[in-house]
Amino acid sequence: MLNPAARCSLLILLLSGCTVSPPSSEAERLPNLIVIFCDDVGFGDIGAFGHPTIATPHLDRMAEEGQRWTNFYVGAAVCTPSRAALMTGRLPIRSGMMSSRRRVLFPDSGGGLPDEELTLAEMLKTRGYATGCFGKWHLGHLPQFLPTRHGFDSYFGIPYSNDMDRTPESPRGRVAFEQPNSEYWNVPLMRGEQVIERPANQETITRRYTEEALAFIDENVDRPFFVYLAHSMAHVPLFASESFDGKSIRGLYGDVMEEIDWSVGQILDRLRSLKIEDETLVVFTSDNGPWLVFDQQGGSAGLLRGGKGETWEGGMREPTLFWWPGRVRPGVVMDMAATMDLLPTFAQLAEAELPEDRVYDGYDLSPLLFGTGPAQRDRIFYYREEQVFAARKGPFKAHFITQSGYGSDGPAVQDPPLLYNLEHDPSEKYDLSSRHPEVIEEIMRMVEEHRNTVVPVVDQLAIPLP
Ligand code: MG
Repeated sequence: MLNPAARCSLLILLLSGCTVSPPSSEAERLPNLIVIFCDDVGFGDIGAFGHPTIATPHLDRMAEEGQRWTNFYVGAAVCTPSRAALMTGRLPIRSGMMSSRRRVLFPDSGGGLPDEELTLAEMLKTRGYATGCFGKWHLGHLPQFLPTRHGFDSYFGIPYSNDMDRTPESPRGRVAFEQPNSEYWNVPLMRGEQVIERPANQETITRRYTEEALAFIDENVDRPFFVYLAHSMAHVPLFASESFDGKSIRGLYGDVMEEIDWSVGQILDRLRSLKIEDETLVVFTSDNGPWLVFDQQGGSAGLLRGGKGETWEGGMREPTLFWWPGRVRPGVVMDMAATMDLLPTFAQLAEAELPEDRVYDGYDLSPLLFGTGPAQRDRIFYYREEQVFAARKGPFKAHFITQSGYGSDGPAVQDPPLLYNLEHDPSEKYDLSSRHPEVIEEIMRMVEEHRNTVVPVVDQLAIPLP
């Protein structure tokens, strides 16, 4: 169906019998949407967020021209549940993508993102978007769970983590990560629903994901499109292509980040050369914090405490940028937001309807992006497995349970809960629980109300391969 401006142009064309400018130049087109989602990149791992020895000129320019968000969260501190949150706009506990049995999906998992969930791609399909997924999926590798069954027209990528499927040739322990070789991990590279390479050559993976995304943008320049570019990097084992390997003064992790930065530059340059930069929103973030147990192979959470797998800030607060020249108001945004907010935000931008039969955990960010209104989000729930380990309301965060991401310690119940003022103390150093018991009470009530909205569903991570 033609929109009013297009109908008007058609009418002029019919009445005048002569050529007029195409309707698209008059009609305001739905914006293109691009999400660049890294793996295990910490809050402190890019120049614009303070890394002293990783050079990220393209990300820094993106931050200058767009918005740098300093309180932006993910839905969980590990891959699978974090990705489920991004894709559905809902806490992963609601889709069964978070479990006390296993933390993520593995090659021997039989579960995945349930069909009843509405993904970003499925929502945008209802508005005529072309949808492409490039990179790590990790929401189920069996055919019924692949991106092509969840609203994406095309898929090119490794369907789970790049450190899974260790081969017999792989040295045991850390050695394989210190001198990584693609042959040590028998991970598949897929196009659509077919495996096209195994083991995937990981040295060239960042470059190839980028080239595929660029080709998709070229092909769909005349219609609204959604690109989900989910890099397998910087998750160990780390790989960079020849042009980046050994170049960064930060070492291999820096090489990998600088190649991701190159990739971002390629995408933004292509939007400029196609002259669609003023009709394209680009978001850059990562799925969880740095994997600290890998020492120098892991990233940095900067001034935040903790990393991947933990409910300290370093596990779930991510370096996040929004860019849309002429639309997104440049600056630093200190309001709270989360990946779950992208779904309602994109719904607003694409004029899509959301179903009313489910609970959403996101808020429309467009007032903050365009400078038209205040923040709507005042809370974050930090789940680990099926429990709320911590919760933030306004500046205050209470920890009810703490546990290291990958250590041998069990969960430690904090009674009274630890309390931090994250605006004064982003590093979570100074416990205020004895000074503000009333704040703890308030946060506990908020958690109680939230828990009442969570209904039990099938645990997808516990399902074995059929
Ligand atoms: Mg990850």
